[in-house]
Amino acid sequence: PLILGIETSCDETGIGIVRGRTLLSNTIASSMDEHARYGGVVPEVAARAHLEALQAAIEAALAEAGVGLHDLDAVAVTSGPGLAGALMVGVGAAKALAVGLDKPLYAVNHLVGHIAADILDADAEPLEYPTVALLVSGGHTSLLLVRDLTTDVELLGETVDDAAGEAFDKVARLLGLPYPGGPQIDRAAVGGDPNAIRFPRGLSRASDMAKHRYDFSFSGLKTAVARWMEQQKAQGNEYSPADVAASFREAVVDVLVTKALDACAQYGVPRLLLGGGVIANKRLREVAIERAAKAGVTVRIPQLSLCTDNGAMIAALAAELVMSGRQPSTLAFGADSTLPVTEIQVAESVGV
Ligand code: ATP
Ligand code: MG
Ligand code: FE
Repeated sequence: PLILGIETSCDETGIGIVRGRTLLSNTIASSMDEHARYGGVVPEVAARAHLEALQAAIEAALAEAGVGLHDLDAVAVTSGPGLAGALMVGVGAAKALAVGLDKPLYAVNHLVGHIAADILDADAEPLEYPTVALLVSGGHTSLLLVRDLTTDVELLGETVDDAAGEAFDKVARLLGLPYPGGPQIDRAAVGGDPNAIRFPRGLSRASDMAKHRYDFSFSGLKTAVARWMEQQKAQGNEYSPADVAASFREAVVDVLVTKALDACAQYGVPRLLLGGGVIANKRLREVAIERAAKAGVTVRIPQLSLCTDNGAMIAALAAELVMSGRQPSTLAFGADSTLPVTEIQVAESVGV
């Protein structure tokens, strides 16, 4: 099926077009620059930017794919989770398109979309199940067990406070670096010693294992970095910002990879899929690949343009739903900022 996917859950206006499992186009307009002076995504600004960018993004995606609106078999949209106001812009546009074109509409889960991105990687072997998936971005840090993309995704754990990308953004700010912090920390860490300072690994104590084995916490880490820097200053010590950046990054990477591989071992799953914008982090890829190899786990990382928020992954998930015979969504859905990952598709109509 030929499907156009609309993604507006955060600061990327993503329009993607797929034919079955083939990627035809993936247009992304980001309002990231507009958020830079606030040090993080401002929901109201993001929603307004989606409204302004959508029309042009849809036209660009259609042109690149070489198809017209009337060729589409279905429209797909992110219903949640994400920023409510931002989601509403995409949901409104998708409903209007579907009604205007008289095409079926599929409202889907953003997090499951991140997993579906993997399907579009033409060079990779087909995704096998079950697989553990680690999704890390500015808005979420989630560990999932995927038994079947269209029917069975289980949340093993998630962050109890800041997302991993958010931690990069906040620590970058402590170091006087601009937003977005991830690439800045990467740059600042060059030549730094990752073992110079032992920063805390959140929720990794033996006492955390019962309730929070697969959960993450990064706000304590951010505070630890702030406190360490204050102490050095108070004592008049010189310190290397490269060591701080490298040691902070190591703490994040270590806990992400450790918990993901623990899940693989615990559930007997030799596959780990990575997704989300933080996957751009070279150290994270490096450590994940190295430790997974030792554990006999295969790591899958879609190309970066499919890892960050995009519309193609939303279209890809809808294509899987169509191909597995699922009914379209009714128009009785809205923007659900806390949509649980178990709700892969929302408002599916009852078959006749
Ligand atoms: P969502 O949470 O809905 O996926 P988002 O826009 O916050 O949305 P992405 O666009 O996928 O997420 O990723 C942006 C985040 O990734 C930012 O927090 C940014 O700091 C982080 N990031 C980008 N590059 C790197 C990097 N090299 N290392 C670490 N973090 C990075
Ligand atoms: Mg983003
Ligand atoms: Fe995302």
